[in-house]
Amino acid sequence: MKFVDEFRNNEYTKILVEKLNNISSEKMNIMEVCGSHTMAIFRYGIRDVLPSNINLISGPGCPVCVTPQSYIDTALTLSEKGNVIIATFGDMMKVPGKKGSLTKKKAEGADVRIVYSPMDCLLMANQNPSKKIVFLSVGFETTAPMAAVTVMEAKKNNISNLFFLTAHKIVPPVMEALVKEKDLIIDGFLLPGHVCAIIGSKPFEFLSRDYHIPGVVTGFEPIDMLQGLNTLVSSVSKKNNRIENDYKRIVKTEGNPSALEYLKKAFNRVDSSWRGLGRIPNSGLEFKGEYEDFDALKHFKIDYEEYDGSPGCKCGEILKGKIKPPDCPLFKKICNPENPVGSCMVSSEGTCAAYYRYHKDTK
Ligand code: SF4
Repeated sequence: MKFVDEFRNNEYTKILVEKLNNISSEKMNIMEVCGSHTMAIFRYGIRDVLPSNINLISGPGCPVCVTPQSYIDTALTLSEKGNVIIATFGDMMKVPGKKGSLTKKKAEGADVRIVYSPMDCLLMANQNPSKKIVFLSVGFETTAPMAAVTVMEAKKNNISNLFFLTAHKIVPPVMEALVKEKDLIIDGFLLPGHVCAIIGSKPFEFLSRDYHIPGVVTGFEPIDMLQGLNTLVSSVSKKNNRIENDYKRIVKTEGNPSALEYLKKAFNRVDSSWRGLGRIPNSGLEFKGEYEDFDALKHFKIDYEEYDGSPGCKCGEILKGKIKPPDCPLFKKICNPENPVGSCMVSSEGTCAAYYRYHKDTK
C-alpha cells in the first residue's frame, strides 16, 4: 500500500530509533496533542524504544474527552422528547452524563442513531419528516468543515427538521492555555497532523514566536512519529524553536483553503468550555446568524447551564498532562472502557482508554 508500507518499514524504523537515542541526554517533556497520536504511539510501541530522558505527555486532543458533561446531559434531555432522533458519532454513546449515557437512553427506548458523517443527517431528515433530527456536532477543525457543508446544504434545500447541538473546538487556543499553565513544563509539541491538514501549520507559529517552544507536524505511521520525534528532540536540544512540518505529503503551511472557506462561512469563533480545562477564549465555534435556525439550543429554547466532571475522575489533570491515567485511583479498579467514569476512558482516542489497552509500565 503506497504511503503506508513505506512508513512502516523495519529497516528505517531501526535507523530512526538509533538516531533518536543518540541526539541528546537532556531531560525533556514532549506533548503529543492529538488523541490519534496517543493511540498510535501505544499501538506501535514507540514509548518502549524512547530514550529514558524523553517524557511523553498526552494532551487534550480527543474531542469526546473535552466535551463538558453538561453537553451530554443536554443531549440526554433532548433524547427524552418523543419526536426527536439523536444522531451521533459512535464514540459519544458511552460518555457518562449525570443522568446516564446515550447507550442507556437507547436501551430505554429513545431513538438514538449512529452516523458516520453529518451528511447522513440530511437523508435522515428527509426520510423522517415528522421527526426532528438533532446531530451531536462535536469535534475539532477536522470535523467542523463537514458540519459547515451540511448546514449549508440543509439551508439550500429548505430542510426544517435538522438541528445541530454544537460543541466544536479549536486546537491552537487550548495549546496556548496549556503553555500558560503553572506547574506544566512542555519543551516541545508533536503537532496534530489531522487538524493541521485543515488549518495548516501556520496557526501554531505563535508557540515559537511568543513562547519559544518548538513543534513538529507529524503523521500517524511509526516512521512519521519517529521522524517527528527526531526533528523535535534535535530542535529542543539545539534551542531551535521553530515549527517544522514533517507531514508535507498531507499538510500545507496555509492548510486546506476550501475547508477553511466553509468554516468561515458557517461559523463564528466564540469562547468555549473544555472538560476539565475550563472556559478558553476563542476556542469554539457557533453558527453564524444566517444558520441560527439550525441551532438545537435556540430551537428547543434550552437554557444551557454549564458544569463539568464526574466525582473522583481526574480527566482534567490528565488532559492537561499533569498526571498519567495510572495515577488516577479509579483507573482499572472502577473505571474501564465498559464502565467509564470519565470521558477519557470512553473514546478510542482517550488517554485513559489508550493506557487501559496498551499500558505496561508508567514510562
Ligand atoms: Fe477519569 Fe477514569 Fe481516567 Fe480516572 S481512569 S481520570 S476516572 S476517565
